[in-house]
Amino acid sequence: MKNYNISIIKGDGIGPEIVDEAIKVLDAVSYSCGFSLEYKEYLMGGAALDVTGEPLPKETITGVLQSDACLFGAIGGEKWDTLPRDKRPETGLLNFREAMGVYANLRPAIIYDELVNASTLKPEVIEGVDIMVVRELIGGIYFGKPRENDGFKAFNTMVYTKPEIERIGKQAFELAMKRDKRVCSVDKANVLEVSQLWRDTMEEIARDYPEVELSHMYVDNAAMQLVRNPKQFDVIVTGNIFGDILSDTASMVVGSIGLLPSASTGDKTAIYEPIHGSAPDIAGQGIANPIATIESAAMMLRYSLGESLAADKIDSAIKKALKDGYRTKDLAAYDAKEVVTTSEMGDIIANYINK
Ligand code: NAD
Repeated sequence: MKNYNISIIKGDGIGPEIVDEAIKVLDAVSYSCGFSLEYKEYLMGGAALDVTGEPLPKETITGVLQSDACLFGAIGGEKWDTLPRDKRPETGLLNFREAMGVYANLRPAIIYDELVNASTLKPEVIEGVDIMVVRELIGGIYFGKPRENDGFKAFNTMVYTKPEIERIGKQAFELAMKRDKRVCSVDKANVLEVSQLWRDTMEEIARDYPEVELSHMYVDNAAMQLVRNPKQFDVIVTGNIFGDILSDTASMVVGSIGLLPSASTGDKTAIYEPIHGSAPDIAGQGIANPIATIESAAMMLRYSLGESLAADKIDSAIKKALKDGYRTKDLAAYDAKEVVTTSEMGDIIANYINK
């Protein structure tokens, strides 16, 4: 029987609650598909600060690098908000992503038919939306040096090298080949030199993928188009800061933030996590929606472990749970037949795996 080593980081706030439900579903699907998963838990964020005094302990880095993939909840909370920046949970997360070399953040935004009314956009605008946002994650202005704030003048540096653009571009084109074969590269090439290099490099990569249609869009227009007509997009590829903003816009097209998974992949390992944060306002109440994390676990099976059948089974079980009217509190207003807790939603999806 195939066995995979999975590192688990539950984190803070609702992190432990939602990751537990994803593990429940992973156990059900691995049993039914004939492979086994061995979990090892590591600390990060506030949970790590409380125990070790550091937001990112060394054992977490080495442990995750040795595993086949990492499932992560979320970090952060008021308790640690007043710490110096280098001690903050969020700094731990940025350093973690950098240490893991996960340069590509994949965020699918798909509409569940049962939840078309949960979006703030009209049903006819969003029905059938299926977008994959591919965001560069460890370069660009968030990491560029020099950076400074002397109290009078402050600056950051947006920098990309050609190899950095090539590796994220190739990821986007490879994904497009398995989808609708359209890549929209988003930049600000009318103003920024770094965006011109981005655009030129995307054009060069496109020559290796003649079946894929490449288009370019300025980021301000892309923000508008995502809300005006999201169905026009298949794969969107963009840099770190633009992707940060656009992927959140794409997420609200879909409805609840509690539905959206993500994968952060690189050459060494991959991290799978919901796009939302640790939601301290609802932590411990049993009302968090675990679907984003369960769907992140499905992405892990698909992209890191090659267990596509198992991933498909999770997708179907989630759809069936929604179709049958089960909703966590965040979605209670949208055709709920029964409002269930975080743990009950995990049970229902796990039970539907083989139905
Ligand atoms: P958030 O995503 O945690 O919460 C925003 C809103 O969405 C809240 O009202 C919350 O209750 C709701 N929400 C989030 N996930 C939900 C779920 N699964 N089910 C139902 N409702 C859900 O963002 P925030 O409030 O801005 O940040 C809270 C903390 O999380 C901060 O400390 C922030 O730094 C941290 N954060 C962490 C990550 C991460 O770990 N990747 C990402 C973003 C924010």
